[in-house]
Amino acid sequence: MKIGTPKEIYDGEARVAMTPDSALQLQKLGYDCAIETGAGAAAGFSDAAYEAAGVEIVKTAAALWKEADIIAKVRQPNDTELKRLTQDKTLISFFNPGGNEEGLELAKSKGAAVIAMEMVPRISRAQKMDALSSMANIAGYRAVIEAGNNFGRFFTGQVTAAGKVPPAKVLIVGAGVAGLAAIGTATSLGAITYAFDVRPEVAEQVESMGAEFVYLDFEEEQQDGAATGGYASVSSPEFREAQLAKFRELAPEVDIVITTALIPNREAPELWTEDMVQAMKPGSVIVDLAAEKGGNCKLTVKDEKIVTDNGVTIIGYTDFPSRMAAQASTLYATNIRHMMTDLTPEKDGKIVHNMEDDVIRGATVTFEGEITFPPPPPKVA
Ligand code: NAD
Repeated sequence: MKIGTPKEIYDGEARVAMTPDSALQLQKLGYDCAIETGAGAAAGFSDAAYEAAGVEIVKTAAALWKEADIIAKVRQPNDTELKRLTQDKTLISFFNPGGNEEGLELAKSKGAAVIAMEMVPRISRAQKMDALSSMANIAGYRAVIEAGNNFGRFFTGQVTAAGKVPPAKVLIVGAGVAGLAAIGTATSLGAITYAFDVRPEVAEQVESMGAEFVYLDFEEEQQDGAATGGYASVSSPEFREAQLAKFRELAPEVDIVITTALIPNREAPELWTEDMVQAMKPGSVIVDLAAEKGGNCKLTVKDEKIVTDNGVTIIGYTDFPSRMAAQASTLYATNIRHMMTDLTPEKDGKIVHNMEDDVIRGATVTFEGEITFPPPPPKVA
């Protein structure tokens, strides 16, 4: 069978779902590989590099979709792409199945199998295919770099002949995958880093990375995410008030705030209010990684960078992984390659779509003319 990767058509998207290295691995599984001409260029992978890795270069997207049995891409496909699916094809990409009913219907009507990368269950066995985590890791790192690029001072404190420089103070709100990557980056750059999460079980991880966990003066414990499969749930009004009071206290102190707080299938909770922005020092920077879901900061503008009247820069970009396209493509292509390994038990270049397998079942959103989203809860936790 043939695996093909088209050029991403989403405006500004620089990632690509197959790299020359991943193509070599896919060929070891018995597949032929094809790529649309120029598909890797924005991520730094030339047609020549793919050709050297034994990948066929296909001139048009239409031809690529026609000749590939399995299409691997990054972004949610649009209608034109979905209409190119047929009964015998498998599509592997981000798909946003919870907010893409039309796409699900179209893929179903074509009889194609669709594997949605954001639906890979978050269990140990599937970590190697977990593209949400690999992309969140990049977003967390890049958020700190972006903040640094917009911050007029060092992260680390210094005593030099030209004077004493205080270290930057960074607050990370939400210590999931992106938040932890941001903590690691900020502490390694030498900042004094604080982190807050509603899940108390992350405190140890936060502290082991050299950051200080922010505890609330609250009579109940910080919520226990274990009750919701490791994810946060909506906070009680009292808890939220205690959280906001703590943030108000921190706002004049911190130089950089990186917010990553999300609750699955909901708009992002608003945690950094207008008065907190007003209380920050001029030159401070906020990077809102929740911008896609409405933002954690009241003043965030999605996909833009703004500077407030009191001199606070607020960054609401939603394309951090694409801003590091070579790294992101390498990790994403590896996630896809691992998915293909599980889909090819005999390593004979033939896909076996085993719906008894928790991971494959969990990620499959259309199959044999049916919508198979949402999946049943995974058997293994
Ligand atoms: P996410 O992107 O959904 O959320 C980011 C963080 O925001 C979470 O830590 C959440 O607790 C936090 N948050 C939500 N509301 C908040 C609020 N009001 N204030 C402060 N913080 C708030 O989460 P994620 O990074 O995708 O992952 C979260 C969970 O999933 C963790 O338990 C993680 O260990 C688990 N996970 C497991 C696997 C795996 O086993 N394969 C992989 C990735 C993540």
